[in-house]
Amino acid sequence: MAEIAVAGFVRHSTVDWPGELVATVFCQGCPWACRYCHNPALLAAGPGSIAWAEVMAFLRRRRGLLDGVVISGGEPTLQKDLAAALSEIRALGFRTGLHTGGPYPARLAQAAPLLDWVGFDVKAPFGAYDRITGVPGSGAKARDSLILLRDSGVALDPRTTVHPALLSAADLARVDAELGALGLPPSRRQPFRAEGCADQALGARAGA
Ligand code: SF4
Repeated sequence: MAEIAVAGFVRHSTVDWPGELVATVFCQGCPWACRYCHNPALLAAGPGSIAWAEVMAFLRRRRGLLDGVVISGGEPTLQKDLAAALSEIRALGFRTGLHTGGPYPARLAQAAPLLDWVGFDVKAPFGAYDRITGVPGSGAKARDSLILLRDSGVALDPRTTVHPALLSAADLARVDAELGALGLPPSRRQPFRAEGCADQALGARAGA
């Protein structure tokens, strides 16, 4: 059985994979530190609080009753057993979705053949990623991940969280131009959500 650090588990969701009724697994840990992160408790790597066996036991009871399962985060590609977990989910007959920002292209490449859909968080123009994630080189990782997902043929849903203090209209236009240059559609815009965000200054400036 896979070893996945599960920090949260939503048994029925209609919002994590558009058009699908899914269960959603939230993994512990993320290598990035986006100022707008609304779930900072998930960022530190650690063992999680829910056993993977418990998740699988629930899914066995829901065969035929859910469309699929979404693995989210934190950042799920931090989990070394991600591909094994996806195989276990697929063996139960579920479709599989993933939320990722793409910080680990090699692990994502292992997972891609086991995925039906990816919601990909495009943070910024690739050259400006550090401003959002706080991690040098993160834009290059995201670009590599987008290219491998494009080439895998998996359904890809790029989306961008917009905070007016972090991304300008010109930044957003550049995001879409860079996606277009890769043969990908423009990103869907997601508004910044102040709930849970640890950066109070950012929350206060959300309407700026
Ligand atoms: S990549 Fe996602 S989970 Fe990680 S810090 Fe950014 S918003 Fe939070």
